[in-house]
Amino acid sequence: MLHGFSARRNSLSFAGSLLVACWFVVTNVQAEWVYQHQPIMGTDIKLSLWHEDRVMGERAASAVMAEMHRIDKLLSPYKPTSELSRLNKTAAVEPTSVSPELYALIDKSLFYSRVSEGAFDISFASLGRHYNYREQKKPSVEKLQALLPSVDYRQIQINPASRSVFFANEHLQIDLGGIAKGYAVDRSIQILQNLGIQHATVSAGGDSRVLGDKRGKPWNVGIKNPRGKGEGQDGVALVLPMVDGAISTSGDYERFFIDSDTGERVHHIINPRTGTSVGGVASVSVLGPNGFDTDPLSTAVFVMGPIRGLALIETLPSFECIIIDRRGKVSYSSGLAAPEH
Ligand code: AMP
Ligand code: MG
Repeated sequence: MLHGFSARRNSLSFAGSLLVACWFVVTNVQAEWVYQHQPIMGTDIKLSLWHEDRVMGERAASAVMAEMHRIDKLLSPYKPTSELSRLNKTAAVEPTSVSPELYALIDKSLFYSRVSEGAFDISFASLGRHYNYREQKKPSVEKLQALLPSVDYRQIQINPASRSVFFANEHLQIDLGGIAKGYAVDRSIQILQNLGIQHATVSAGGDSRVLGDKRGKPWNVGIKNPRGKGEGQDGVALVLPMVDGAISTSGDYERFFIDSDTGERVHHIINPRTGTSVGGVASVSVLGPNGFDTDPLSTAVFVMGPIRGLALIETLPSFECIIIDRRGKVSYSSGLAAPEH
């Protein structure tokens, strides 16, 4: 999965950063390159693939974008008609049957809640929906205290026989923002493979998955410099060469504002125990076979912090992790060699 890991500091290379706002095709002798870039799911979706047949490549790229739109319609907390929004309306009133897809996402989320001892908790939304990063708003102390008891994954009850979900707390709400993008990049790779594509990279914000290689070489996947500006050299902290695999990065720079009263960074990753943004860590990247696991794990390790988070990753043989703390210190799980300076 991780191909001859050697981190190169400040080198520009993430294939996605070369993409422009619309799609275009570059032809060369042996293979056709297809690139697409669209804003979907509140983030940037970027796709890059090469294939012998350009028409097939274009068709596959369009199928991926259609799938991203479908997942957005299913899981968006901002669309009142999404299945997730409808579930949030009824699940505290009565057990509500959901699609196999939504059930699998909730089931997997609850698995990672148990594995992370509550660090990953989709019911963060009971309180989290009162943060508005664009408008620089956070819940009042009163609201935080009132809603914190509703942040508790153990009050999400699922029944596999009826494929139903019940919230045993009237104020409980869920949001799958910590797992949906990893799931979406997995689905994209599956679609590409079904259409005969063997070499591609798909990213949804901080969640990427690579398939095969980049014309005989590994794909280069970049980890952002958490405090870097733009996408140039300063914007990239590490570059990882990868062949087949997923990488998810959770960062405190994705959605945030600086509280004018306290000077604190108020960002989108919430500690379910306190209801406030997690401090100390700036970014966590988790590498593994698929995004359905690396995405919740990156969020979980972010909340758990370097010591407990790395200890969790060490118990999971297929996963590795890179943590950058707020002072810029980088920690690696034991399967990754330290970078050469
Ligand atoms: P990621 O970038 O994958 O770490 O996901 C961050 C997103 O996960 C946030 O924007 C929220 O939608 C959601 N989230 C925030 N805190 C948590 C948490 N403690 N457990 C699960 N999901 C969370
Ligand atoms: Mg995540």
